Amino acid sequence: MPDGDWWDILPRRVYSSLERVETSQPWYDVYRLHDWLYAIYEGGQYDETLMYLVIGCERAVVVDGGTGIGRLDLLVEELTDKPYFLLLTHTHNDHIGGCKDFEEIAVYDDAMSRESAAMGLGRDKMGEIIEGDNVIREFPPGFDPASYYAPPYRVTRWLSDGDRVGLGGRTLEVIYTPGHSSDHICLLERDSRYLWTGDLFYTGSVTTYLPGGDHDAFIDSCRRLVDLMPHYEVLLPAHNEPLVEKEMMVELLKAAEDVKAGRLTEYSESRSVAVNYDVLVRRYQFSRFALITRADL
Ligand SMILES: [Zn+2]
Repeated sequence: MPDGDWWDILPRRVYSSLERVETSQPWYDVYRLHDWLYAIYEGGQYDETLMYLVIGCERAVVVDGGTGIGRLDLLVEELTDKPYFLLLTHTHNDHIGGCKDFEEIAVYDDAMSRESAAMGLGRDKMGEIIEGDNVIREFPPGFDPASYYAPPYRVTRWLSDGDRVGLGGRTLEVIYTPGHSSDHICLLERDSRYLWTGDLFYTGSVTTYLPGGDHDAFIDSCRRLVDLMPHYEVLLPAHNEPLVEKEMMVELLKAAEDVKAGRLTEYSESRSVAVNYDVLVRRYQFSRFALITRADL
C-alpha cells in the first residue's frame, strides 16, 4: 500500500467543484449533480463509499447501501418525496450496510447475493469497517459501534442481465459484470449517458482477488463496458470520486489484460488476510487507479 495515512489525500479535488447540499445527517456528504441525481459520500470512512440517489417522475432509487453507519433512508426522505428503493451493485460488506433501513431492495440474482440476503454479515465480516483508524468522523447519534453488523434483508426484486429498472422518465439498464464479485452489476442510463460502475472501476485500488472475484471474468466485463462506450460519457463509481471520464475503462481493460498476460514487472506483493481468507496478492499502479489481483493468476 502507499505510504502515509489513507486520509492524507482528502478532500479529493473533485468535490470542491460540486454543489454541496446541507442535510441533517453530517455522516454523509451530499452533492447535487443534477436536480434528479445526487452523490452521497461517506468521506469519513476508509472505504469512501459513494451512493447515488436517482429520482424519476414516479419513484427514486438509491444505488448501493454503504456501510449502514448513517441512516440513508432518512437522508433520502430529505432529498425527495418520491417513493424510493435500494438497488445494490453487489453484496460486499461496504455496500449492504444500509439494507437494514430499506423495505424494497433490488439485487442481481446469484448464489452470492442469495446467501448475503439470507444470512446478512456478522460482526466478524462487518467489524473491519469501523476498526482502528478506519473511521475519522464522529459516529452519528443512534449508531452503536458495539452492536454493528448487517442483518439479513429481504430482496423484493431479483435482477437479471438486461433488466430495465424504470423510475418514470429514467431507466437504468442492468449490465451483469462479474469479476470483482460474482454478483456484480453496472447500470447504464442511455438518456443521460451515465454508467454506474459499482466496484468494477473507481479511482482507488480495484480488486479481483476478494471472495467471489475472478480475474478472467473481470477482463470480459471490462471488454463489454468498453464495447458499450458509445452509449455513455461519464462514470459514476461506488467509491472515492464521482464523475470520472469514460476513457478510464480503456485503460482498465488494458491493465487487466496486461496483468493476466504477465506483461507487467512493476508491482508490490503482500498477503491479504481477512477472516478465513489468506491470499498472496500483487498491486499494480496505473494513472488514476491500482489493480490488486491474486499473485497466482
Ligand atoms: Zn466490492
